[in-house]
Amino acid sequence: MLFQFSLILPVYLLVATLMLLLSVRSWVLRPVPGATAWSMTMLFCAIYAIGSCLEIAFAKPDLKLAMDRVIYIGTTGFVFFWGIFAIQYSSQGHRLGRVTVSLLAIIPLTTLFLALFAEQHQLLYRSYEFVYEDGLIIGHVKTYGPLFWVWLAYSYIIFVGSWLLLLRSMFRAQALFRGQAWMVILASAAPMLVYFFQTTSLNLLSPFDPTILVMVFSGVVMLFAMTQYRFMDIVPIAYDLIFKNVKSGIILIDLKDRIVGINHAAEQILGCSEKKIIGKSVAEAMTSKSSILGEFWDAKDIKTEIAMSDIGPYYELQIAPLYNRREEWVGRLVMLYDITNRKQIEKQTLELTIERERVQLLQRFISHMSHDLRTPLTSIKVSQYLLRKELAGQHSVRLDSLTQQTERLTEMVESMLTLLRLEKDSLGDLLDLDVNDLIGYVIERNHALAGICGALVHFNGDKDLPQVLANRDELTLAFSNLLVNAMRYTPNGGEIRISTVRDIDHVVIRVHDNGIGISAEDLPHIFDRFYRADASRSTQNGGFGLGLTITKIVLERHAGTIDVQSQLGEGSEFCVRLPIAKAS
Ligand code: ADP
Repeated sequence: MLFQFSLILPVYLLVATLMLLLSVRSWVLRPVPGATAWSMTMLFCAIYAIGSCLEIAFAKPDLKLAMDRVIYIGTTGFVFFWGIFAIQYSSQGHRLGRVTVSLLAIIPLTTLFLALFAEQHQLLYRSYEFVYEDGLIIGHVKTYGPLFWVWLAYSYIIFVGSWLLLLRSMFRAQALFRGQAWMVILASAAPMLVYFFQTTSLNLLSPFDPTILVMVFSGVVMLFAMTQYRFMDIVPIAYDLIFKNVKSGIILIDLKDRIVGINHAAEQILGCSEKKIIGKSVAEAMTSKSSILGEFWDAKDIKTEIAMSDIGPYYELQIAPLYNRREEWVGRLVMLYDITNRKQIEKQTLELTIERERVQLLQRFISHMSHDLRTPLTSIKVSQYLLRKELAGQHSVRLDSLTQQTERLTEMVESMLTLLRLEKDSLGDLLDLDVNDLIGYVIERNHALAGICGALVHFNGDKDLPQVLANRDELTLAFSNLLVNAMRYTPNGGEIRISTVRDIDHVVIRVHDNGIGISAEDLPHIFDRFYRADASRSTQNGGFGLGLTITKIVLERHAGTIDVQSQLGEGSEFCVRLPIAKAS
């Protein structure tokens, strides 16, 4: 007779099937931390159940002994992978090092290897005898060898260690995970019981085999954990990862006002550590930073902005009530979003708006003032003219000075009005212009001033210079300013050289003088409004510091550029570049 039947056989088969199903289910979820190890645990459990089932079913002693080996394959694999699972599950996917895995594998592999050749040594069993009744084997009597006790100690260390790890992770877990962690802890108690029954040969549940009952229990609990508590489900893991890693601070407070969850961002914002704060009441958990939230801690539903100091960082604080699935109020969720960037942008925008309004106000004031000054200036000029006639040569020095100052004032008012117009108005009609012609005209127009200043003006225009598309009046003004400056700041006997040349798709105009030059400190500012270099102040004939500003604006309106090179006491060179008109 090969087989003998027992009522317990179908139960073992059922358990084996259940374990195999659980193994396959977990295998599919391999990316989840611990799923692969759990799948292997279940597989080896199934092997254990099949081995146990066949050990009972086989009637021959040698076959029964063979199945004892299969049971060892099952138990060694089961204990080993259970340990791996507990470590991975409780550490949420931190990779286990090869060394740890290898160390954990030493005892199971040695035990398994020696168990396969148990007859050749007495390390595992000192004696192994079957108990017969009516010609049937009804059990066995074993006395264990030293290896067995080593293996047993290893198994207990793994089980107790795993238990502690799982317990710790349960206390740390968020509400959603606590349920599943409980399930796993419950299920993990089962293998310990199996071991206890097996090694003590104590069977409180006689005549049922306790091992198999415990395994059924364990399997059912795990099935429950999978279906009800989303054990091995990727979603809770993802939630947990999001909770931990999200950039906004999140704090969970229970109904007794205790902090039950805090993520990394909140730890940093409040300057406290999770270990110290968890489980404490809100009042106890106050740090110098978290006290900023002081007045809001009690709120159930609030949304406001807070600043950690006068200069930030700024946070949007939102406190919302938390409800469970049955819509019962279970606690509060405190969220802190960093809005420092937004606040800074808001502040900058506000500052910019205020600045713009200030500039507009100033522009309006200058515009009104300039316009208002025009009329009295004209009447002063007329009066001066009449006075000069009436006085017929008398007081001419005083009158000359009066006329000169009036001219300067008029020039200033006109410059300011020009500047305002350039900033407001569009470029207007553009014409194809010959820059050489234009410069010739500018030199001609300022001929009289050249005479007064005593500087010699040379012009060297490129014969094949292409045309530029420009507003004639504006360019005349820009080049006049450059030439007048060169004249003003070049002492008697100096030279001014103007040249034009083509450079690929630009016309380059250089205005060079060997006058007083500009110091290195002044150079970066000469295009600023109302800026006058110190050296030019000492000359009596300086302007108001608007000429170069106007020139630069005009050139920029024409997509051109202006650069300057100058050495104090040696002279200056202004280099203008204007794009060539498309048709040229
Ligand atoms: P201003 O009407 O005072 O000449 P500008 O805006 O035209 O004002 O020039 C600004 C300042 O740049 C001048 O005050 C002067 O100090 C300096 N500057 C401009 N052109 C020259 C130059 N060719 N040589 C020396 N200094 C110059």
